[in-house]
Amino acid sequence: MEDNNKDDGYEKYCYLCRRPESQVGKLIYMPNSINICQDCMQKTFDSFSGGGMQFMDLSNMPNLNRNQFTPVDDIPKKQKVRKKKEAEKKKEESELTLSSIPAPHEMKAQLDEYVVGQDHAKKIISVAVYNHYKRVLTDSMDDIEIEKSNMLMVGPTGSGKTYLVKTIARILNVPLAITDATTLTEAGYIGDDVESVLSKLLAAADNDVEKAERGIVFIDEIDKIAKKKSTNSRDVSGEAVQQGLLKILEGADVEVPVGAGSKNAMVPLTTINTRNILFICGGAFPDLEDIIKARLNKQSAIGFRADLKDKYDKDPNVLQKVTMEDLREFGMIPEFLGRLPILYALQSLDEDMLVKILKEPKNAILKQYRKLLSLDGVDLRFDDTAYHAIAKRALEKKTGARALRAIIEEFMLDIMYQIPRDDNIGRVTITGDYIDGKGLPLIEMRGVLALEQ
Ligand code: ADP
Repeated sequence: MEDNNKDDGYEKYCYLCRRPESQVGKLIYMPNSINICQDCMQKTFDSFSGGGMQFMDLSNMPNLNRNQFTPVDDIPKKQKVRKKKEAEKKKEESELTLSSIPAPHEMKAQLDEYVVGQDHAKKIISVAVYNHYKRVLTDSMDDIEIEKSNMLMVGPTGSGKTYLVKTIARILNVPLAITDATTLTEAGYIGDDVESVLSKLLAAADNDVEKAERGIVFIDEIDKIAKKKSTNSRDVSGEAVQQGLLKILEGADVEVPVGAGSKNAMVPLTTINTRNILFICGGAFPDLEDIIKARLNKQSAIGFRADLKDKYDKDPNVLQKVTMEDLREFGMIPEFLGRLPILYALQSLDEDMLVKILKEPKNAILKQYRKLLSLDGVDLRFDDTAYHAIAKRALEKKTGARALRAIIEEFMLDIMYQIPRDDNIGRVTITGDYIDGKGLPLIEMRGVLALEQ
């Protein structure tokens, strides 16, 4: 018989109620990998004494699978929570300590290596994240309670919202879950419950609850859960989701399904405390600009600050002037906004910024292609007109930096296909004309290059 008692580093679960050992206390081990908690054992005895065996009618065991008796140890690993002991061992390797969190200016400098522009956003995020982890690591909860630094990030598509958060999580080496608010619905409706956000974080933390409790959750497309204007039906994916998120944003013990998006009978549950989880919400908020402009124009038309009526109509960065009031008007409920005290906007990327994105970041796409071709002994170059031609085409697509990759992949396909064919090619220079379809790349042969040197 399999040794039921062996320690594989994962939590054991009660066969009947599916709660973990750390929650229900020592389990009673029985043959065939069946473990039962004292509570359920007692209930089973009680049901014996209450007039015969009514095992199948145990009403207060919602998770009992009545048809199929799967030994609990058959639960796949992704649905099991790591034991504290194991978690501690792992933590030592990558522990985030007070001395290891970079100071805000260091964090910003690291962000600068990857993210172009967005200086204001980078400053805010560095300070907020630094304060957040200082609070978490010192647990400084004396007289003055430091408020949680949850953030709301407003910015056009492809301006780097997700990328900023991903980079910060990598710098800090904390687990990160990225979810999409559009998939969330009120509990009980088709779609994911709000707890699914935490399930993802738990999975990102390798099912280590303690690690997940210090992670970052990024909820994208948050503008899609704005209150629907004038609907008669129940708003299950809008306002109700905002309501549902309130509890987890603030900090609460939440029962979370392990390894699945929603609670159901077969999914083990665990409890996660969200007090130290940093929530960052992001969204493009289309039409928000109009709301801001209307407010600004109204303000500036009154009193002695009276100004030109349409002063703000042409301001490309009007989004930077966003306030909580504007978001309320957009359809976010005040309680929700109140739990995201840090609000800032990202700039939309212009041609020069796009060129910088092509050239500067440590892992810029063009650098990756240069590296790839250099492995074939070919020197790939781009002249300035090429950078600007790519940036111009990306701007037309109106999806920010996201368009860059698609454009580059399109023309690089030919290059990557043709160049390795000919061993004599030593250097390829991509020009703006080539990007615009008006010419060919400049090709220099190895022999000529060798002569030049
Ligand atoms: P969104 O704002 O819609 O979340 P993303 O962060 O997903 O946009 O950006 C898409 C991609 O564009 C990123 O993976 C990144 O490579 C690139 N990118 C966007 N903004 C920047 C930026 N400011 N600096 C460098 N790369 C960027």
